[in-house]
Amino acid sequence: MLTDVRTENAYELALQNFDAAADVLGLDNDSRAMIKYPERVLTVSVPVRMDDGHIHRFEAYRVQHSSARGPAKGGIRYHPQVTLDEVKALATWMTWKCAVVNIPFGGAKGGITCDPKHMSQNELERMTRRYTSAILPIIGPEKDIPAPDVYTNSQTMAWIMDTFSMFKGYAVPGVVTGKPINLGGSLGRNEATGRGVFYTVECALEHLGLPMKGATVVVQGFGNAGSIAAQLLHAAGAKVIAVNDSTSGVYNPRGLDIPGLIHLKALTGKVEGFPEAEPITAEDMLALECDILVPAALENAVHVDNADKVRTKIVAEAANGPLTRDADRILEDKGVFIIPDILCNAGGVTVSYFEWVQDEQHLFWEAQDIYNRLERVMKTSFHDVLKIRLDHKVDMRIAANMLGIGRVADAVKVRGIYP
Ligand code: NAD
Repeated sequence: MLTDVRTENAYELALQNFDAAADVLGLDNDSRAMIKYPERVLTVSVPVRMDDGHIHRFEAYRVQHSSARGPAKGGIRYHPQVTLDEVKALATWMTWKCAVVNIPFGGAKGGITCDPKHMSQNELERMTRRYTSAILPIIGPEKDIPAPDVYTNSQTMAWIMDTFSMFKGYAVPGVVTGKPINLGGSLGRNEATGRGVFYTVECALEHLGLPMKGATVVVQGFGNAGSIAAQLLHAAGAKVIAVNDSTSGVYNPRGLDIPGLIHLKALTGKVEGFPEAEPITAEDMLALECDILVPAALENAVHVDNADKVRTKIVAEAANGPLTRDADRILEDKGVFIIPDILCNAGGVTVSYFEWVQDEQHLFWEAQDIYNRLERVMKTSFHDVLKIRLDHKVDMRIAANMLGIGRVADAVKVRGIYP
């Protein structure tokens, strides 16, 4: 029961979003030429000896969109649908995202076109290490710092850190974020994206005058971002009525027991078969009436053919690019309040920044420090974006892009360009 995900080109969407925001900002052509496109695009072959003895060649990418405000920063995705354009889109969004939350990073993204669900741990480790050595010349704590994304995790980051450190001859924890705690990871990084989603939803509810208690929530994609957002919303008194993952969905109009569901997903890798819930198709789930819809899987989940059926007051974009441009327009016309991805899911990269700072300082913070700082960053950023929306009478996505793009354009302008 896979969600019907469209293959619209995410990079085109990223460029369209850029133009829409740059137009309102009145950005001159010189600035656009300097900041719109990726600075560096690397495609590499990753040959891996599979467990049955044969060699499989994977195609992989690392795209650095911008280093104008600091080292490039962005996750690494393992998925069969990874393409260069997808990675370019995700790298572009990282640039604006880091600027929206005002952390001193540029944007990057990496990906390997592979099917991790059908690979063994040993195959994944060999592939990760070979990919790391292929991109090694362009990554590093001062250059470009990878992190987890779809189907990569703290173990993946540990392998990257180890491979990089072997080449250097000493431990370099700051080369990646999202590492295990014992390897220089930060408390709070694993749940940071979902926590950031939660803080922005709190702000949106307050802005709209809606209560958290009893608010109904639907979550598409029950992975890292989706499950943690669901857990925090559930703990705050909201009622998560439906969630799904890549294989199935579960629904209970009285509210799902989210800690129990997280436990089941950890045990079986699925939400399927959860007691006190009925199965629901992905299509029916997106059409459920709710207060908050959290798309937390992949791009283009809501598109021209299903956007009309969506009945929510708020969309909190935990995923990157979950709405096509048509869907965006349809939902805006319906008066849905959209918390755009480059704001909503920026909690992950914000705590990645905290992790990098702690690694560089060799001084580690307590969990509550991380939560307090994250809450401050997310809520300040939400209100910065909301102010632009209200001042310029634009939607939240354009407002967020205006904030991010404006900050990058200013950085480039004051740095100048080498003649
Ligand atoms: P993840 O691998 O932990 O989880 C992805 C989940 O989506 C899985 O449960 C999977 O079953 C589900 N899924 C995949 N295809 C689906 C489909 N067609 N329909 C329904 N569910 C589907 O990944 P994640 O890290 O939680 O990332 C999810 C999204 O959040 C991505 O868009 C990612 O770029 C974005 N994001 C993640 C982070 C982070 O720190 N992890 C930060 C910012 C943004």
